[in-house]
Amino acid sequence: MPNKAIFFDRDGVLNVDFGHVHKYEDFQWVPGALAAIVEAKRQGFLVIVVTNQAGIAKGYYDEATFFRLMDQVKADVVNAGGLIDEVYFCPHHPEGNPPYRAVCECRKPKPGMLLRAINEHNIDPTRSFLIGDADTDIQAATAAGIRSVKFTGGNILDVLLQVGALDTTFIDSQSLSD
Ligand SMILES: [Mg+2]
Ligand SMILES: [Zn+2]
Repeated sequence: MPNKAIFFDRDGVLNVDFGHVHKYEDFQWVPGALAAIVEAKRQGFLVIVVTNQAGIAKGYYDEATFFRLMDQVKADVVNAGGLIDEVYFCPHHPEGNPPYRAVCECRKPKPGMLLRAINEHNIDPTRSFLIGDADTDIQAATAAGIRSVKFTGGNILDVLLQVGALDTTFIDSQSLSD
């Protein structure tokens, strides 16, 4: 049976978007984001991060720096009892530096990262969901046949519960047994 996934944009969804965040000291978790990842795993979803990282093309930081930060982010998630199954990132920008100067298929609003994830992880788009804070996130999800919600502030877990991406009954039964 194909997998179900929740796709998370990074900047503005997992962490507060201060612009081209690439240092752990600048990575401030958005309220409810860690809890949402933990709950998504508990409800059997793959957790996939899909993030445009044009700062690499623009020379603000390199891929190694991006990977280092993501390793720290993944460690935070594991410490909270969750797991990020995969991170897809687009390092390109049409006006960036070589070799990242490109009109690519992965930069959202193109669905390239989502289609690759669907293929590589045997994901059923119709059982999956994306949360992003930009119109380009929503456009990418729509192009890939994935339902989505635009995050405009508040608590990530609450939003995913409200739109029915995550099932409250899991949380209710959990808190009853506490
Ligand atoms: Mg964003
Ligand atoms: Zn790209």
